Amino acid sequence: MSPLSRFASMAPPSADMALLARYVKMILAAPVYDLAICTPLQVAPALSQRLGNQVLLKREDLQPTFSFKIRGAYNRLAQLGDEQRQRGVITASAGNHAQGVALAARELGIKATIVMPASTPGLKVLGVRSRGAEAILHGESFPFALAHALSLAQSSGGTFVSPFDDPLVIAGQGTVAMEILRQQQGALDAIFVPVGGGGLIAGIAAYVKYLRPEVRIIGVESEHSNCLQQALAAGERVILPTVGTFADGVAVAQIGEHGFEICRHHVDQVISVSNDQLCAAIKDIYDDTRSITEPSGALAVAGIKEYVAQSGATGQTLVAIDSGANINFDSLRHVVERAALCPPL
Ligand SMILES: *Cc1c(COP(=O)(O)O)cnc(C)c1O
Repeated sequence: MSPLSRFASMAPPSADMALLARYVKMILAAPVYDLAICTPLQVAPALSQRLGNQVLLKREDLQPTFSFKIRGAYNRLAQLGDEQRQRGVITASAGNHAQGVALAARELGIKATIVMPASTPGLKVLGVRSRGAEAILHGESFPFALAHALSLAQSSGGTFVSPFDDPLVIAGQGTVAMEILRQQQGALDAIFVPVGGGGLIAGIAAYVKYLRPEVRIIGVESEHSNCLQQALAAGERVILPTVGTFADGVAVAQIGEHGFEICRHHVDQVISVSNDQLCAAIKDIYDDTRSITEPSGALAVAGIKEYVAQSGATGQTLVAIDSGANINFDSLRHVVERAALCPPL
């Protein structure tokens, strides 16, 4: 079979390609560089050598606010109408989207009110307040904060800005993929993407599967919040009864509706990892970059290690999204202790 006919036989239905095309257009038009930077895609030399594969890190931990969330938040807020801007925005967030919205709102002169779970790390709360947004701590985890934010939006007439379940937010996050395909024009076997509510992976999958469908998109979840894995297994968006919050940036109980529409057809595989694997991956990233990531930020690297261990892959080019660096300094003691317990790979 020629490569072309093989692609033709695998091509998804045209309605689905039209959906991807709509996202690709939104991604190309997203004005994220008013605030976000094009982050480096850099080799992790020690990890690459140890794993026998070329591992590249997409350094989203280097964004202003120290996570990629600024992309989606800014894209959404920048496209609000005048009247919506005047009424302000309301959001619920485990912390990084909150900081993205706060910064984007300040930049655009919009009032922002942000509901965060009571367990949110102090430095993320500070990150919101220091950027001039109002932070309300409410509920033990994201779903409770979300319910409160939705009712506030209804009573105040402000616009609710979802951290992941919104096409413009997904498109903003998808600009990460646009950069990766420009930065890595040669070999590229798979992109490993951390998954919380699925906005980041949906934007990345839409862009990559439209342009380079042979590149595998692999989601990585915490085993304590594997809502995409469970939704794919069930064929519908399930709600997890409990969610662990160690990887607080991805502590979401239900995958977003818009994201799931893309993920169910365009994500090749989902891997879940333990908290101890995350701690070990934080150390791996530190060893190669001298930078500290938060637990969610290290998911993709932990996923690459698990993937290589399971599949025996060698000689591949694997990209990990290093998605964020917002960790309380005090938590590092725990990370160091747990990382020491993980068997070396
Ligand atoms: C939000 C977030 C994720 C997950 O993104 P989703 O769009 O919710 O799937 C991963 N890592 C970090 C650091 C985050 O803040």
